[in-house]
Amino acid sequence: MEFSRLRAVVVDAWTRLSSTGVDRVDVTRARMVEGANHVFVLCSLAHVPFVVYLALGAPPATLVPAVAHLGLIAVWCAGLFLNSRGHFLVAAIAGVLAPVVQLGYLTIVMSRGAGFHLQLVMIGGLVYTVFARRHWRVGFAVGLVAATAAGVLHVLPASAAPHFPVSELWVEGAMVMNLALMAMFIYATGYFNHRYYTRERRRNERLLAEASRLAATDSLTGLVNRRGIEPALQDAIAEGHYSLAFVDIDRFKDINDRFGHPRGDAVLEAVAERLRASLPEGARLARWGGEEFLVVMPGLGLVAAVVAMERMRVATEGDIGVAGELEHVTVSIGVAHSPTAGRGEEALQLADGQLYAAKEAGRNAVRGASLQRVPSRVRA
Ligand code: GH3
Ligand code: MG
Ligand code: MG
Repeated sequence: MEFSRLRAVVVDAWTRLSSTGVDRVDVTRARMVEGANHVFVLCSLAHVPFVVYLALGAPPATLVPAVAHLGLIAVWCAGLFLNSRGHFLVAAIAGVLAPVVQLGYLTIVMSRGAGFHLQLVMIGGLVYTVFARRHWRVGFAVGLVAATAAGVLHVLPASAAPHFPVSELWVEGAMVMNLALMAMFIYATGYFNHRYYTRERRRNERLLAEASRLAATDSLTGLVNRRGIEPALQDAIAEGHYSLAFVDIDRFKDINDRFGHPRGDAVLEAVAERLRASLPEGARLARWGGEEFLVVMPGLGLVAAVVAMERMRVATEGDIGVAGELEHVTVSIGVAHSPTAGRGEEALQLADGQLYAAKEAGRNAVRGASLQRVPSRVRA
């Protein structure tokens, strides 16, 4: 079998085993079940060499601890099965207590020099992986029991020498294997934690970006809303020599009253589309609120801004089909120019005043004015 196929088979088996009993609806629980599955599979695989090593220690005498070790692997496999049946807590406790018993047994019969009890120290590292959040106290207690057992087993007179006829070299070899397993375990948990947090961080960043975008977008017209235009508005104000314009649909209340709010919404959308299409270059458009829009024109003088807004007014005027009838829609626009930086509030007020003037003048019109230059003496 070529390498890529073998890899695909391994990845497929890993994915299947990882997702045993994982219910995607309950995300927190799903992660814990998945974590427990990972532990069960990896521990089972990592302990197969120990079964062989024990069996070869001093056969046939060491077949007993080897078979007992197979039993430990069987408990982890049963853990996968229990997870698939939803008996998650039972699987977690059995999966953690079984190694305490088996590794304790091996420490006593093969001696502390073989280092099997060292593995018990690592059980504390599994608590947050194997136990669901609400069971973490149980997990913590089990971890504590395992760590204490490791200490007790180390000083226990019974674990001073092997009870099976194994050589010193074999005992040294077992210690090396146990140390190697500890190192692998630490790397594996570090890797999985890193992978998990990287995935979570990316997901959070994506969600935050989406939430920020939605918070700055008007859902009806798709334009940016007041919050969304704020950075562009503040930039223009800070740079100076800018113009602002309020665009307001004429007699919009009439349309709502005659055709109803949903049809009014459709008109709003159509007007927003026309405004968007006739926006001068470099300008930004927002739905300021209700049937009112704001145009920010950085670097545009009063005359240029009024000309651009007149073009926009003409482009927006026209019939829009509402409930099978053609409704003639127009807008009025108030323009304000500021020759200097700052004075954003004043400029918005002036634009509002000019919009009022355009309405007073009969609507479907553009009016504009510039803020007066404040003499430096007065400014000071
Ligand atoms: P004017 O020419 O003086 O601007 O008259 P007008 O009727 O357009 O102004 P008025 O401020 O009296 O009415 C604005 C209306 O816009 C009232 C409000 O119900 C309606 N409106 C505000 N937001 C929405 C919206 O999201 N959808 C709809 N359908 N109507 C809205
Ligand atoms: Mg209006
Ligand atoms: Mg209005």
